[in-house]
This record gives sequence, structure tokens and C-alpha cells, in this order.
Amino acid sequence: MKSQSDDITPTLVTVSKLRKVYDLSGPWLEKVLAGKGKQTVTAVDNVSFDIKRGETFALVGESGSGKTTVARMVVGLLERTAGEVRIDGISVGSTASAGERARLRRSIQMIFQDPYASLNPRWTVGAIIAEPIVTFGLIKGKAAVAERVGELLTLVGLSPADAVKYPHQFSGGQRQRIAIARALSSNPEFIVCDEPTSALDVSVQAQILNLMADLQERLGLTYLFISHNLAVVRHVADQIGVLYLGRLVEIAGSRDIFERPRHPYTKMLIAAVPDLEDPGKAPEGIVGEIPNPVSPPTGCHFHPRCPLAMDRCKIEVPAFRDGVACHLA
Ligand code: SF4
Repeated sequence: MKSQSDDITPTLVTVSKLRKVYDLSGPWLEKVLAGKGKQTVTAVDNVSFDIKRGETFALVGESGSGKTTVARMVVGLLERTAGEVRIDGISVGSTASAGERARLRRSIQMIFQDPYASLNPRWTVGAIIAEPIVTFGLIKGKAAVAERVGELLTLVGLSPADAVKYPHQFSGGQRQRIAIARALSSNPEFIVCDEPTSALDVSVQAQILNLMADLQERLGLTYLFISHNLAVVRHVADQIGVLYLGRLVEIAGSRDIFERPRHPYTKMLIAAVPDLEDPGKAPEGIVGEIPNPVSPPTGCHFHPRCPLAMDRCKIEVPAFRDGVACHLA
């Protein structure tokens, strides 16, 4: 994390008006016989943000807010309904040339929540980490690849001797270190981290976050960090985007979000973060639940939970202006 986001740092990732709509209706004949129309759910609606090179953009929101859907569209694992993602000037998706797609595959990596599920249990750690190096033809020769695997293991705080072991021989935190070493093996510029610490114990979470911050500084990495927990992203993010039911409700620098939150939902999330200076004080907690996206509230999606809601909020969708989407901002 840099001290403050500045205007001179070039942008690496541009996400524009991203939208994902799922069609929930059954086959055509079933719909006709049941007399039902098309049923859709909008999981992501008009989401735009930029990430500067070498910085961390954290996307936060409760479960069901659409943050993982955004992450998967950004890396091209999920097709977009609308919008565009550009990474280092290359459009992610079918319009990119074969050469550009190959470059993107090498320069974007993803780290998942469950490191055990993302590592092949039948492969040795060495084979898992070496696979991208061999696939992309980055290093030739068995000995040179093995040496690079040893370097990567050392870089993430493990031993080169761990290359001959299998994933089940490691703890959760160590497995996440292996997943990070594999992600680094293709020399990426941009890593999407989808809840990378939420399956780990609190003490181990801090170690992994410190490792990721250290690697970012040493290797100049750019992160998109997905989390349901504002407390986790507080010390790693340069910019934070708050997502509610598929829509961005606020974007600001990390310090500004915590010191001067503007959207009522951001304020609610911050009130739920435990106070480290006063651990005895119970957090105020989250009020209500995120609504069903199949039948979202009209106007501002947040109005049924918002303590400041007015009649206008039930009818009119607040525009996203100057970093916030609220009629009162
Ligand atoms: S637009 Fe209205 S309901 Fe939505 S957050 Fe602002 S005040 Fe609350």
C-alpha cells in the first residue's frame, strides 16, 4: 500500500460500466406453458473503477453484493453482459488478439479463498508452482525450473525443500503461501485476490496480509482485493470501493473511507468493525440483511435498511457522483 494515491501514477486497470445479468427463466417451452415471462437477476450493475499501477483497490460488501462476480469478469473467467475491462490498454475478452490474450493470461493471476481447493492434491508443490513457468515457456530446462520454484518458495517464506511435499502436508496459511508462489510464477503484474484470508485464523491472516504487502512493494504488483470485511482491507488498500447489491455506493481512499465515510451503508459497515483501542466495546453491528437480488428494492437498493431514507429514495436511483451514490451526499 502506498501512503496516498496520486495523480501521476499510471492506471493499470480500467473497469467501465460493468454489468452482469443472469437469465433465471427455464427453457422456452416451459416458459410458454407456465405463462411466465423472462426472469432475470442483475448481479452487477454499472460498476466502474480504476486501479493505478502498484496499488491495491479493495472491493468490499456483504455476501451477495456481487464482488466475486466483478472479480471473475475482470480476469475474464466470466462473460460480461455489458461494459469493458482494460488491463494495460488491452481489452479483456474476445476483441483482444491472440497475442494480447496470451500476454494477459501471463500477466493476470488470481488467488482464491480456499487454498486447498485451488491446489491439485495429487501434485507435489514443486509441480504446482512449476506448471505456469512451463506452460508459458518462461524458463527452459528442468534444473532451471526447479531452481526458480525454490526461489519462489523462499520468497513466500517456505523452504525450497518443500517442493517435494504435497498440499495436505501443510497448514492453511502455508497452503495460501503456496497458492501465492504459484500465482507469482508467471511474473504477473496484476493479481486478483478473492477473500484470500477469510478461511484462515486471525493470527495467520495478518501474516498473509503482511506477506502480500511485502511482495507488492518488492515486485511492484497491483492488487484487486475482494473482501466482506472492511477491517481486513483497512491496512492493505489504497482505494476502497463499497458494493451493495451489485451497485457501487462509494469509492474513496482508504483513510477517507474510515475517517469520513459518506454513504449510510459504508457507515454501517464501519460501525460493525471492532474497535481495537476499546476491545470491550461491542460493535454496533449490521442492521437487516441484504435483499434478494431477484426482487431488489426500488430506487436506492439500500432504502429498506437506511436510517436516513426519504420518500424520494424509494423511487429514484441515486446517481454515482463525486465518489458516492446517495441523494443526501
Ligand atoms: S439514497 Fe436515500 S436510502 Fe439511499 S443511502 Fe442515501 S439516504 Fe439512504
